[in-house]
Amino acid sequence: MKTIKLHNTRTRTKEDFVPISADNVRMYVCGPTVYDRAHLGNARPVVVFDVLYRLLRHVYGADHVTYVRNFTDVDDKINATALARQKAGSPGTLEQLVQERSDETIGWYLHDMGALGALEPNEMPRATEYIPQMIAMIEGLIDKGHAYVAEGHVLFAVYSWKKRYGALSGRSVDDMIAGARVEVAPYKKNPMDFVLWKPSSDELPGWDSPWGRGRPGWHIECSAMSYELLGESFDIHGGGNDLMFPHHENEIAQSCCAHPEGEFARVWLHNEMLQVEGKKMSKSLGNFFTVHDLLDQGVPGEVIRFVFLQTHYRKPMDWTEKKAREAEATLRKWRALTAGIEPAPSAAPSVIAALSDDLNTAGALAELHALFARVYALETKAVLNLEEYGSPEEAKRSFVASAQLLGLLSEQMGEWADIGSVDLSAHENRLADARVIAMQSKDFSEVDRLKAAFVAAGLEVRMSKDGVELVPGAGFDAAKLEGV
Ligand code: AMP
Ligand code: ZN
Repeated sequence: MKTIKLHNTRTRTKEDFVPISADNVRMYVCGPTVYDRAHLGNARPVVVFDVLYRLLRHVYGADHVTYVRNFTDVDDKINATALARQKAGSPGTLEQLVQERSDETIGWYLHDMGALGALEPNEMPRATEYIPQMIAMIEGLIDKGHAYVAEGHVLFAVYSWKKRYGALSGRSVDDMIAGARVEVAPYKKNPMDFVLWKPSSDELPGWDSPWGRGRPGWHIECSAMSYELLGESFDIHGGGNDLMFPHHENEIAQSCCAHPEGEFARVWLHNEMLQVEGKKMSKSLGNFFTVHDLLDQGVPGEVIRFVFLQTHYRKPMDWTEKKAREAEATLRKWRALTAGIEPAPSAAPSVIAALSDDLNTAGALAELHALFARVYALETKAVLNLEEYGSPEEAKRSFVASAQLLGLLSEQMGEWADIGSVDLSAHENRLADARVIAMQSKDFSEVDRLKAAFVAAGLEVRMSKDGVELVPGAGFDAAKLEGV
């Protein structure tokens, strides 16, 4: 079995990954707060952990991996959207409008992430479906002396866990207190204490609890849902590095105090941020565009995925149009030569090896380029010793299986590149005929008209004395050939 190495934020080293049980490898990833469409940055952890999920399934078997990603559907921003709708005259109670907003956003999210080729996790729990479990966990924390009730709130007492609080992100409680600039609520015993439960006003969504009608804090959601679905110890916990503090630190405090018999998550993986001009893409900075915007502009989801894979997950990355254009041209070339090819039973060892080295997706793409070069050489008979290199068919099958391990070149994602229905040879013949006529009449206007139309459709026009060749480039749009 191939050993996977992963960089564990907790130990700050690349470690051999050894699952608690190879029969059921368990991974939890913090999901989105569902108040609006996902921006491109939100898609980065989705693609990163999708690659890890695919790799784990490859190594341990598809039925031996459990991937959980939650939806945070309790949030002030969702409430605010619902309130605005109610004020604008939408029918229904506020609670119904909140639910409507969450449902709609979850639908968009799954559609957009599906377009990027992300497999759906095995479980996608919604916070609102786990309120009793959260209440039970909070009660346990109070019983054990790790939490206290104050003015309708329940707070986690960070001092009760002082020795380990901050270990993940490398901070000490005393330093944090010294550096804290947050306005401290008067009911907090300690400025670092964080909310497990807070009161809800009558209009806002709320649940009955031993501390009155209220709602959970954000951090307790992930602790309760991961415990319910994966147990007190599981293998991998993931999310963006913006969540390391305070969210993940608080999850660890809650889970380890509520279930000291377990270890909570063994390996912590954090993806770096997608940036815009050196700054994290975020809703609050306003420097964002959504995945939906890009798809709408005609950027295929597969191209977005390819661009993401070019940068290692622990490095910041920028989205540029140039990267997208180049990715599109590569994918078009790959798809054109491998259309209809059945994948081999397994990806090439070189691609698996790259991914197993802390998800070196850039390395895996480099291997794919090398495999493709071989496919191309065999196809064009540019290699002398065919036997040594295997058959073109086999090379293609291995190449396709390898690309599919990265979530590329699947049939479902290929519609955008579908040029099979367009007969370019008919267009090539028309241009060739027009050229013959023009040579005699010395009137090249029809040749120029056709060339311009083909270029406008995204084709490269290659004319030589041997004939005419039309090659689809980045941005090729078959629809634009109609009526030429
Ligand atoms: P949120 O809905 O803001 O909690 O974010 C959902 C997920 O997206 C979390 O795992 C965040 O870490 C991640 N995320 C948010 N912004 C970015 C970004 N600019 N680049 C990469 N990941 C991000
Ligand atoms: Zn979380």
